[in-house]
Amino acid sequence: MSDQDRILAHLKSYQDDMVKLLEVFTNTDSPSTDKSLMDAFAKLVAREWEGLDAKVTILEQDTYGNHVKVEVGSGDETILLLCHMDTVWDAGETQKRPFRVEDGKAYGPGVYDMKAGIVQAFFAVKTLKDLGLLPEKKIVVLHNSEEEIGSPSSRPIIEEEAKKASAVLVLEPTALGGSLKTWRKGVGGFTVSIKGRASHAGADYEKGVSAITEAAHQMLRLHGLTDLEAGTTVNVGVVSAGTRTNVVAENATLGVDLRIKTMDAANTIIPEILGLKPVHPEITLEVKGELNRPPMERTEGNVRLFELAQKIGREMGIEVTESGSGGGSDGNFTSALGIPTLDGLGAVGDGAHALTEHIIVSSLPERAAIVAGLLLKI
Ligand SMILES: [Zn+2]
Repeated sequence: MSDQDRILAHLKSYQDDMVKLLEVFTNTDSPSTDKSLMDAFAKLVAREWEGLDAKVTILEQDTYGNHVKVEVGSGDETILLLCHMDTVWDAGETQKRPFRVEDGKAYGPGVYDMKAGIVQAFFAVKTLKDLGLLPEKKIVVLHNSEEEIGSPSSRPIIEEEAKKASAVLVLEPTALGGSLKTWRKGVGGFTVSIKGRASHAGADYEKGVSAITEAAHQMLRLHGLTDLEAGTTVNVGVVSAGTRTNVVAENATLGVDLRIKTMDAANTIIPEILGLKPVHPEITLEVKGELNRPPMERTEGNVRLFELAQKIGREMGIEVTESGSGGGSDGNFTSALGIPTLDGLGAVGDGAHALTEHIIVSSLPERAAIVAGLLLKI
């Protein structure tokens, strides 16, 4: 029996334990914005790893929830695993929709994004340890508390750890059908503030300068920057303007989302957005914003990691395909630093951030086996 077959068989024998741990994790609320709940969840994750004789460090945070850093093994080479512990669900959601398994699928808030990923990372390492297969490398697993709100406090920690690593494995959910992600779009956020002049819409119409008319021009301009073929999208997703129908509107504000596939595209389009000029001469217009997550480009290093994962999958009779995503993750930060990064190594399922969220239970050991294989072969 090959090592990879042994890993898979061992993980399959753990399937019920994986489901049990996933149930505990899923039934514990962990909204990004609630420090006390996040800290409690971090303790839960830390305790699990402590049982594995790993070096566990709670990285205390003032504003956001604490992060958990786990170190296993030693060696000159480091592999970094990224798991976020927070979900988009508010406190109390797990009471309303507790974890349940039905027809081979497990449901619950955050089960797919990405509590199953945490479970898989843990059992992948545990299995290597059980079988005496731990590689002569250092494995670092970083669990952060605020990925869903842009990783404001963990980004520098992630980047520092990534710089020491030869590869980064991100246990975010797979793409639909179980595909792994070699690229993700970069994400920018902008606010356009438009100021005109208010007047009575009946008595003094001509004295007014409508911020709403100006906003309409600017919205068309912004959406005109979209280039679907290049993977660039600009979306005005929030508009607020005006006070009363009988008032020529003085103010308008546009909330803008930008997605780009490459840094080149970002460097072209961002100056255009920041440099928007008013159409009406008496309008004042201000644009603020930036690229929040750089694109995770489909680099050679990322593709090489994918091909290795695909080979490992084939050894076990599991066909793994490649894809990407318009959504960002912490993999964007590490890939942008030039560290080979493979994302979507978490659960197979569907419905992230939705009520239909679920994972395929039988995929838990299979996907953990791919992670274990990568830890062994990178
Ligand atoms: Zn996620």
